[in-house]
Amino acid sequence: MSVREDPRRGDRAVIVRYGEISLKGRNRGQFEQKLKEDLGWFLKKQGHAFAKITAERGRIYIRGIEDLPELKKILGVYSYSPAFELARDYGALKKEVSRFFPAIKQSRDFRVSCQRIAKDFSPDSMGVEREIGTIISERTGTPVRLKDPDFELHIEIGHRHLYLFSEKIRGFGGFPVGSAGKLVSLISGGIDSPVATFLMMKRGVLPVLLHFQNSASETSKVERLRDRLEEFAAGQKIKLIVIPREELFLGKYAGLFGTRHEPYVCIICKYLMHKKAAAIVEKEGALGVITGDNLAQVASQTLKNLYASRSAAPFPIYSPLIAYEKSETMAIARQIGTYELSIAESEGCSPPRNPKTGVDCERLRKVLKETGLE
Ligand code: ATP
Ligand code: MG
Repeated sequence: MSVREDPRRGDRAVIVRYGEISLKGRNRGQFEQKLKEDLGWFLKKQGHAFAKITAERGRIYIRGIEDLPELKKILGVYSYSPAFELARDYGALKKEVSRFFPAIKQSRDFRVSCQRIAKDFSPDSMGVEREIGTIISERTGTPVRLKDPDFELHIEIGHRHLYLFSEKIRGFGGFPVGSAGKLVSLISGGIDSPVATFLMMKRGVLPVLLHFQNSASETSKVERLRDRLEEFAAGQKIKLIVIPREELFLGKYAGLFGTRHEPYVCIICKYLMHKKAAAIVEKEGALGVITGDNLAQVASQTLKNLYASRSAAPFPIYSPLIAYEKSETMAIARQIGTYELSIAESEGCSPPRNPKTGVDCERLRKVLKETGLE
């Protein structure tokens, strides 16, 4: 039986942990504030009644909550636990651990793990573990096993309350969306760019999506991907800007096929996308661009081609998937629910027959001049 299935007594809480190591001083306060706001927004949207959200060094507590919300959609949440909240009273603790007896009776073995966030509590962690462990073992008949126990009862001693819990559920970690600033994300209907966008959102970025339209079917796919990504944005809107491909190519796209410039279509396309992105970056007040580029996956993604195609970019480009295996990217896509959307049938671009893989800047500039696309 898990904690949340026992509605008999006491106050329910959810303990929310974040990756506190990289947070110091004033940043921590801002981070906690934003995470509290995002959690509050999410709980209200999902219809979860709760009494209060409070922060204490390194933890956020959702207090007086009846059922367990799924907090994975809130970026910044490293892990969370449904818990019982008790007064800071050792006598009460000794009694309240009986809530876990049914579950511990059904377990092969167990251990008690105590963490004192507030050090002004006696006995110390070891003392609590030993004494409470002995009580539980005597009352349930289940033996203690410190290494890899079947059941682990956690006791956390905070500044104002004690918490009892047995589950730790992993979130994505990272930082609340928008806490780092804004970037323009080049998004296609493929698997990679939505994942790249998500990874940057996880570092606190609010993306503005920029899509160059190949077909209406692909664009509606991108709209669905936007909606999915927006579920992680804690109530913020994710803007999607759509620019037709022909506009990007000044009406010359179709005319390139069947000419000696056909093998350069991909690199020209990437170059023009970055050039166009520059204008959007400025207009949106963004601090750079995200792409789903992955080294040497397709013709346009060799080091040489990436170098040349990015020569139009006077801003930083973030490509978090550059060194990923395709399988790693796909695993993330599945976790965040973009995979199914990305693999849906749609009409994409028509790649040239023999795309050039080693185009240098000089060559690219020449081709742009010849085609009138510079
Ligand atoms: P993806 O799965 O994201 O399509 P990919 O591995 O198929 O990436 P490419 O198609 O060469 O590789 O695209 C590389 C990157 O260029 C994409 O990840 C995306 O950031 C950007 N991009 C490609 N096509 C478009 C488009 N139609 N609109 C906007 N950005 C695009
Ligand atoms: Mg693609």
